[in-house]
Amino acid sequence: MGAEAESLLVNRHRTKLDTDVIIKKNFSDEETDHKKHSSVDYLQERIAIERVPDTDNNGNDDNGNHSNNSTNDTTNKTKVILDKSNLLPADIGTDFNFKRKIVWKNAIGFLFLHLLAVYGLIIQLLGYADFRTILYTTFLIIASGMGVTMGAHRLFTHRSFKAKTWVRVLLLWMHTMAGQNCMYVWVRDHRQHHKYSDTDADPHNASRGFFFSHVGWLMSKKHPLVIEYGKKIDMSDMEADPWIMFQKKYYKTMYLIFTVLIPTSIPIIFWNESYLVSLFTTYFYRTVVQLNFTWCVNSVAHIFGNKPYDKNMLPVESRAVAIMAAGEGWHNFHHSFPWDYRAAELGMPHNLTTTLIDLLAKYGQIYDRKFVSDEVIRKRCLRTGDGSHHKHGRMPEEIPEGELILRKYIVEKQKLDQFRNHLENYAKEDDLNNNNNNNGKDKLQVKQPCADSNNSCNKDLVCKLKDKQALNACSA
Ligand SMILES: [Zn+2]
Ligand SMILES: [Zn+2]
Repeated sequence: MGAEAESLLVNRHRTKLDTDVIIKKNFSDEETDHKKHSSVDYLQERIAIERVPDTDNNGNDDNGNHSNNSTNDTTNKTKVILDKSNLLPADIGTDFNFKRKIVWKNAIGFLFLHLLAVYGLIIQLLGYADFRTILYTTFLIIASGMGVTMGAHRLFTHRSFKAKTWVRVLLLWMHTMAGQNCMYVWVRDHRQHHKYSDTDADPHNASRGFFFSHVGWLMSKKHPLVIEYGKKIDMSDMEADPWIMFQKKYYKTMYLIFTVLIPTSIPIIFWNESYLVSLFTTYFYRTVVQLNFTWCVNSVAHIFGNKPYDKNMLPVESRAVAIMAAGEGWHNFHHSFPWDYRAAELGMPHNLTTTLIDLLAKYGQIYDRKFVSDEVIRKRCLRTGDGSHHKHGRMPEEIPEGELILRKYIVEKQKLDQFRNHLENYAKEDDLNNNNNNNGKDKLQVKQPCADSNNSCNKDLVCKLKDKQALNACSA
């Protein structure tokens, strides 16, 4: 572990010394006390701290024993020996005193990229771009989006389904077109994001706020723990894939060809679009829109929304992000069940990625789709959800009495509104009939409950039984 990362962890654990940390030292009675705490037992496997007791200038410790410590240090010295492989995310947390270093080259680069993208949008709005260029750009956004959501995310990162080689290569190509770094780095960062979600070891730690998790993380020097824990991510499957490693090796060249040159050339070649308009719309505008859609999953879908599956995490359900990112906004579900190829339970129709996976699966090009059972979802919702699930809310005894009364009131009000609507509709129809029946002389109306014995009449609670024909119409 790097010295900087280790010192950060040392400082963090020093503050928790009395409660959380195992002290491996000479005082056997204190050691026994500490072992009484289960949390300490748990951490004992992971952290060992050697504490050198306080010494005075003569080298005597708190108990008056002489210390042979050659340094004769008069301050508390805590030496932390970290088990480098088993530290859990809960132990990492977020150090809000950590000062990030801005990488100005990236910050200025992203600023210019966004300004050029805005210009690309303006020329489209002002009509300088051919409508075919606009349609084509929209198509590219969706296609390269599939490279990210279906390819990089659900297939390569989570292995939630299997696909035939041509599908994998196509997805790799579309992912290259999106211009979001090579597949290897994308997958590593996302696996790390799941493993150390919203801690200092998460590349886009949402605990640091909206801007950092959206784009700030790409403008900052990586936190030392991101570097350290990134090395622990298992990437053996990616390293065994020659297509992935080829893209990684030649990524810069491939970016130039597949992200910039080919997408930009097509409008110029096929419908004589101007060079600049094509560049600004199919490259700058498209890639920036695409990037922001993806970034919203890391920022918006970790901050604004409800948590029906697990309230103990930051990720939330976000319909807006689901629409933008082709089904990736149902993020509380996804972080609860990352191996589910749908990345949502009730995502449709805002889950284009799942629709296309199902379509390819229908024709046998995608197979072995993994998904979680309804029963597991139900249990998870009841155990850890925030009660906002449409079906599996909290257990009745967990719902406050006030909320129960409110729910009852809402249901009763809905019934009342429905009944009022029916009455109003009935009154309107009644007036209409009166007008059509010569001042109502020969009207014969009998109000009675719906005569449809199967109770399948959805039209009115009360039918107008005027004659047999009317009764049939009601039952139809
Ligand atoms: Zn996430
Ligand atoms: Zn994921």
